[in-house]
Amino acid sequence: MVNVPEIFGSMVFDEQAMKERLPKATYKLMKKSIAQGKPLDREVANVVANAMKDWAIERGVTHFTHWFQPMTGVTAEKHDSFISPSEDGRVIMEFSGKELIQGEPDASSFPSGGLRATFEARGYTAWDPTSYAFIKEDTLCIPTAFCSYSGEALDKKTPLLRSMEVINTQALRILRLFGDTDTTRVNTTVGPEQEYFLIDEELYKQRKDLIYCGRTLFGAKPPKGQEMEDHYFGTIKPRVKAFMKDLNEELWKLGILAKTEHNEVAPAQHELAPIFTTTNIAADHNQLTMEMLKKVAQKHGMTCLLHEKPFAGVNGSGKHNNWSISTDTGINLLEPGESPKENAQFLLFLAAVIKAVDDYQDLLRVSVVGAGNDHRLGANEAPPAIVSMFVGDELQAILDSIEKGTDFEQKDKEEMEIGVHVLPHFFKDTTDRNRTSPFAFTGNKFEFRMLGSTVSVSGPNIVLNTIVAEVLDQFADELEKATDFNAALNALIKRTIVNHKRIIFNGDGYSEEWTKEAEKRGLLNLRTTPDALPYFISEKSIKLFTKHNIFTEVELNSRYEILLENYCKTLNIEALTMIEMARRSILPAVIEYTKNITDTLTAKQSIGIDISKCKEKEVVEELSYITSMIIENTEKLENALIGVKDIEGIQNEANYYKDTVIAAMNELRVVADRAEVIVGDEYWPYPRYGELLFSIL
Ligand code: ADP
Ligand code: MG
Repeated sequence: MVNVPEIFGSMVFDEQAMKERLPKATYKLMKKSIAQGKPLDREVANVVANAMKDWAIERGVTHFTHWFQPMTGVTAEKHDSFISPSEDGRVIMEFSGKELIQGEPDASSFPSGGLRATFEARGYTAWDPTSYAFIKEDTLCIPTAFCSYSGEALDKKTPLLRSMEVINTQALRILRLFGDTDTTRVNTTVGPEQEYFLIDEELYKQRKDLIYCGRTLFGAKPPKGQEMEDHYFGTIKPRVKAFMKDLNEELWKLGILAKTEHNEVAPAQHELAPIFTTTNIAADHNQLTMEMLKKVAQKHGMTCLLHEKPFAGVNGSGKHNNWSISTDTGINLLEPGESPKENAQFLLFLAAVIKAVDDYQDLLRVSVVGAGNDHRLGANEAPPAIVSMFVGDELQAILDSIEKGTDFEQKDKEEMEIGVHVLPHFFKDTTDRNRTSPFAFTGNKFEFRMLGSTVSVSGPNIVLNTIVAEVLDQFADELEKATDFNAALNALIKRTIVNHKRIIFNGDGYSEEWTKEAEKRGLLNLRTTPDALPYFISEKSIKLFTKHNIFTEVELNSRYEILLENYCKTLNIEALTMIEMARRSILPAVIEYTKNITDTLTAKQSIGIDISKCKEKEVVEELSYITSMIIENTEKLENALIGVKDIEGIQNEANYYKDTVIAAMNELRVVADRAEVIVGDEYWPYPRYGELLFSIL
């Protein structure tokens, strides 16, 4: 039996550990630094580092690392041991404040998107004291931000922390206008729901596409997919149950609030949701969760697939970014309150989010780009590539009545006046019925559902924090000048609803009609990564991000390039893998199977059977046609890849992959999948979809 409260956070140098191990004065300084996001001075850092080292050594730790999140999308670590030579020729274990606060990994081998050409290759990592140090695999991990020496952000944490500062500043201005003098800090909070697949490791190892690309590039439909809808919330299989138990324990030790687990829609698909926390910590925790999913699965003889679309024909995996704004006095600013004043404040924050999402649809779409996620958005399962917002019937009625100046309850004809009326309470379950919306209000938070399962939540939250901060900035400017605050507030909220209501859509986001309707409303439909990314470096985007010091223009350009490069590289690897699989395994299997049937026909003929009437002949004919098509389409794909060399510029290259290479990949897949349906089990070189999806018992 595990004692959860006892193991929870046992591998984290958290508040409790600090309190126990730091001198009182140091502990106080440390807490202050955490609350205000300010760096520690060297003296204090030395004391903290030493206490941290002793704590870690007691837990079997020998090494430490600065743990950071470069633009690769995964986390990076470089381990150093605590050993330091002593005079007697032996070693002592040391860890200095300097080593805690700052590291100097060589930045030159991480993606920098042109930054390296103009700036020094050296980078440094700096401790983010708001995210606690933790122990993973006998190593003390210090969560850090990663920058170049000239100050450019080379990671995902730096701009995220910057965006949290900006929304703090702007939200505080608004709160002061409502007479709130108690709040000293506003943070955004995030609870990311994580989807993933589990398959048998032995089967995984037999598929090059899964090994190289994380998704299947071939695979005919199995007799059973997700049509019976018997997997969602179904009984969890014992092997998966054992995995989840282990996983939860590992996550709890790391102080991660793993809370909910269930089977998802597709066979072999599952979901894990933690309890929400401050955004930068949620981002760190989600990265750790993904790492643990993979590690723990391996211990149980399984492989965890985090790809957005591992299998064609069944649902892909996403990540729902539940997001809200709250004060250090414990108030959720997206929760309608008890009094008219609280409700007026709620409506203003709501209006800010509505305007932000409408004004910056493009950036929200950009924040979830990636070759993998392109398979989901726009297909009939995940939210569409069109950004829109769901508010639910109850809140819609209120917004309508504000817009029209009528009372929302329709009982009396009195005007709905903000700051005078108490709003009815929305119950979470009545506002959360629409699962097709990319951005849904769910009672006291927004759920941004366009994220792919592998993406770091940093990117989407950098955008969300910044765009909402920008609108709050505009609102505060206007309201601070007003002579009659209530009148100005009423006018502002009403105007915002009128001007931005096109972004609200409460219907079926998967329907054809919506695509047409959205076009009429002038909403963007950026279906693919190359379509979306140019908006990241648009004048409007540069203006926004530089104004709030989130990204410099140089940083934006570098990120744009990294993301496009990543798209091209991903598709290149996928195309090369397809060519290799088709030539080395699929084609030989088809030929071998054809030969087997031909041999049968020859044998029949030798004993005098009239083979012109034998059905096998038709099979041979089809296989022969398929063989030619596999050869032809493999060549086509190869030529398409050769064509990349003639393309100038990364944007054009990405467009070429999107239009030409993907088309050639699809053509090759169609014929190979047809072959799979015909060729016998013993001949087929790869485990099929049916085995992959239903292998865990
Ligand atoms: P569903 O599956 O219906 O979307 P879940 O309960 O599985 O809902 O997940 C909801 C997620 O939202 C959880 O991670 C939860 O902690 C998170 N959440 C709840 N309140 C907030 C909030 N104020 N800010 C951010 N996330 C929140
Ligand atoms: Mg959800």
